Amino acid sequence: MELEARSPVLIALYDQHDRLCFANDAFRAAYNLAPDDFPTWADLMRRNYACGKGTVVKTDDIETWIAATVHRRGKIPFRALETDLHDGRWLWMTETVDANGCMLCIAVDITSIRADERELRQDRDFAVRASQVDELTSVPNRRYTMDRLTDFITNCTGNPDMWGCVAIIDIDYFKAINDRYGHQRGDEVLLDFARQMQAIVRRSDCFGRIGGEEFMLILPDTTVSESHLILDRVLDKVRSARPLSNIPEFYYTCSVGLAEYRDGDSVNDIYARADEALYLAKREGRDRVKRYTLAGSDPEFCPDQTS
Ligand code: GH3
Ligand code: MG
Ligand code: MG
Repeated sequence: MELEARSPVLIALYDQHDRLCFANDAFRAAYNLAPDDFPTWADLMRRNYACGKGTVVKTDDIETWIAATVHRRGKIPFRALETDLHDGRWLWMTETVDANGCMLCIAVDITSIRADERELRQDRDFAVRASQVDELTSVPNRRYTMDRLTDFITNCTGNPDMWGCVAIIDIDYFKAINDRYGHQRGDEVLLDFARQMQAIVRRSDCFGRIGGEEFMLILPDTTVSESHLILDRVLDKVRSARPLSNIPEFYYTCSVGLAEYRDGDSVNDIYARADEALYLAKREGRDRVKRYTLAGSDPEFCPDQTS
């Protein structure tokens, strides 16, 4: 018998799409998985929540909890956390993510040690989460997203393999939506937008709310054409969403400014170019993606000629 199969340490590997591709017996036992079962992380959490097994998740709304967690899961190369299991065990869990977005998850049973300070540590984990998450939409907040943008720039520097794009996405005529339907309906639209993005954001991407109705998507290791396609899908999804159940004809749109990494860029450089492209998308009529390109190299956007 293989050693990892016999180990009491929980071991699991998730692929870039967050689907389980390996789990040892200890992990399968804790999360109620048959030997041939390889669900996505979201399905695993959903199923365990429904039958009161696996991780204790303190929420009344598992879908919102999953949506919020997915956006922060695997965004940094290494993370450690404490987690409770329904069977009473208490685990120290580590998540290690490689450049492709594959995640190795290793957990050990720490039920018997340092129980006295446990509450303090859980409070700390809760506070850390609160400092990273936008209260309304539960996606990463501005501070967390900007930290990921700094990581992106650092990873791109001297490493052309990681070069990618940054998009700023802004909901169109949002003030008018608030004015016409009320602030609460406006909030529902923001929530809908964050949910729509869940299906589009990949493990290696980072998505967060950077202002009122303004969001950022960071796309490492992605060309500008690939990014453009992804963002066109965002626009399509948003356009066909009908987020207000009591106003079935209501729909909304958004505009996107896209900038690709350039050698020597700072955070501010790439952010400013994405912002400038967004400004053009708004000026040209909204509900579109505009990419920033060097003046003269692309007839689509020459900032020197259009200002
Ligand atoms: P544009 O198409 O040019 O982007 O126009 P806009 O109306 O979307 O942009 P503007 O910047 O004029 O208005 C943004 C509005 O977003 C104003 C502000 O009251 C509203 N807003 C900001 N944060 C929130 C929020 O958390 N909830 C709601 N409901 N509204 C918000
Ligand atoms: Mg707007
Ligand atoms: Mg705005």
